Amino acid sequence: MPTRILWFRRDLRLHDHPALAAALEPGDGTAVVPLFVVDPRLVGAPRMGAPRLSYLCDALAALDEGLHRRGGRLIVRSGDPRDVVPAVAAETGAAAVHWSGEFTPYGTDRDAAVRAALEGAGVEAHAHPGVLLAEPGSVRTASGDFFRVFSPFQRAWREVPLGEVTPAPGRVPVPHATPGEPLPTPASLGVSLDADVIEGGEPAARARLEEFLRLSADMYHERRNLLSSDGTSRLSADLHYGCVSPRAVYRRLDLRQPGHKGFASELVWRDFYGHVLARWPEVAITEFNPALRDLPWRGASADLDAWCEGRTGYPVIDAAMRQLLGIAWMHNRARMLVASFLCKDLLTDWRLGEAHFLRHLVDGDAASNNGGWQWAAGTGTDAQPYFRIFNPVSQGEQFDPDGAYVRRWVPELRRVPDRWIHHPWDLPDDIAADCGVRIGRDYPAPIVDHAQARIHALAFFKRA
Ligand SMILES: Cc1cc2nc3c(=O)[nH]c(=O)nc-3n(C[C@H](O)[C@H](O)[C@H](O)COP(=O)(O)OP(=O)(O)OC[C@H]3O[C@@H](n4cnc5c(N)ncnc54)[C@H](O)[C@@H]3O)c2cc1C
Repeated sequence: MPTRILWFRRDLRLHDHPALAAALEPGDGTAVVPLFVVDPRLVGAPRMGAPRLSYLCDALAALDEGLHRRGGRLIVRSGDPRDVVPAVAAETGAAAVHWSGEFTPYGTDRDAAVRAALEGAGVEAHAHPGVLLAEPGSVRTASGDFFRVFSPFQRAWREVPLGEVTPAPGRVPVPHATPGEPLPTPASLGVSLDADVIEGGEPAARARLEEFLRLSADMYHERRNLLSSDGTSRLSADLHYGCVSPRAVYRRLDLRQPGHKGFASELVWRDFYGHVLARWPEVAITEFNPALRDLPWRGASADLDAWCEGRTGYPVIDAAMRQLLGIAWMHNRARMLVASFLCKDLLTDWRLGEAHFLRHLVDGDAASNNGGWQWAAGTGTDAQPYFRIFNPVSQGEQFDPDGAYVRRWVPELRRVPDRWIHHPWDLPDDIAADCGVRIGRDYPAPIVDHAQARIHALAFFKRA
C-alpha cells in the first residue's frame, strides 16, 4: 500500500485540512502516517510556557481520539524534526510528506531543512495552506511587495479567493506497524500549571465557536472592548494551534452584520501580522521601523517586576496582568493598555513584555504577539505613531465603567466605590477607611505618575 506522511504541527484538527486531504487523496488507497514530532527546541524553549504546553497536550489527545474514530491513531515521536521526519519516511517507505506551511523564522528554517533532507532521499515534500486565511505572498501591493499598513492590506485581502471548507475525512488508514511514543502529557513535559487554562483540542474549539456565534457574535462590535464582558470569541489559542480552521470560522460569518464584520476584521489582523513576519522575519528581534532601532529602552527593573506581578498601583493594569497569570489569557483592550504602560510609562523594552506574554498566554503567537507589542511600542507597522499613549485611568473608566473587571482581578479593591475604582489614591480618608484600603499598605501607590511619564515618553521618542 503506498504511504504518505501527514506531519501535524499547529494544524491540530481533522476538518478543513488541505494537507491532510492531499495526503489522503481519496480513492488511491494510500495509508497515511499522522505524525507529530515533539521538538525539544520548541517545547523546551524559555518562551514556551506551561499554558501553551497544556493546551498542546489536550489538542494532541483530542486529535488522537478523532483519528481512532476513523480507524487510525496519532504517531508521536520526539526529537529534532530535521532527523525525525526523514527517519519516519525511511522507516515507513513513505513516498511523500505533507504539512501546513509555516511562516515563523524558526518554522521556515526547519521546514527548508526537512524538505532538503527528504528530497535528497527521493521523498516528495509538500507544504499546503491552512494556518492563515490567505497565504503569505497572496496579498500584495501594486508594486508586488507585501503591505506595511493594515487598511490597504485588508482591501487587497478581500480580493483573495479563500476556497470552501472541506469536511473531516471519514477514514484515516494508518499502517499498523508504525511505532509511536505515548502522547505527551503536562507531567511528561515537566509542566506545572498555575493558571486555569481553557481546554484545548478540536471538539472544545468547535464548541467555543458555536457558543460565540450563538451568544456574542451579533453584538461583537459593541461589546468587544468592554473588559468584563464575554464579548469576544476566546478562539485565539484554538486558531493558534489550528484546532479550528480559520476558514471554517470565517465561512460561518454573515458579513452583512456589523458584529460579524468587525470580528472578520480581527481575523484579517491575524493574517496581516502573519504576512509581516513572513516578509520581515527580523521583526522577531528588532523594530519594524528602522528609524526606531536604537532607542535606549530600560531593561529588567523593579518596575518590570511590579508590572509582571500586577502591582503597579494602576488598577486596570494590575487587573489585566493578574488576569494573564490567572487564566493565561488577557482581553485585547487590556493587552493594549498594559503594553502601552510598559513601553511608554515605564520606557521598558517591548521585547521583555513580549517574552512575558509568550510565556504566560495560552494563545502566545509569534506573529500576533510581536505585531501587538510593536504596535503598542510605536515601533511597528501602525500608521499611528509613537505619541499614542494610553491613560490607564481614563481607559479604565471608559472600558470598565463599573469597575467589575478590576474587582474581579484585584479583590483588595472590591469595596472601593465606582467613582474611585480606577484611581484609588484619590479616595478620601474616611471612605478609604470604610472600604479597608490604605494606599501603600493594602494596595500599592502608583509606581509612576502617568502625566509625568507621558512627558518623558514623548521626549524619549522625539530624541530618536
Ligand atoms: C500587546 C498584544 C499582544 C498580543 N498577543 C497575541 C498573541 O500572542 N496571540 C494572539 O492570538 N493574539 C495576540 N494579540 C491580539 C489579540 O489581543 C488576541 O488575539 C485576542 O485578545 C484574543 O482573544 P479572542 O480570541 O477572544 O479575540 P476576538 O476578539 O474574538 O478575535 C478573534 C480572533 O481574531 C484574532 N485577533 C483578534 N485581535 C487581533 C489582533 N489585534 N492581532 C492579531 N490577531 C487578532 C485572534 O486570532 C482572535 O482569536 C495581542 C494583542 C496585543 C495588543
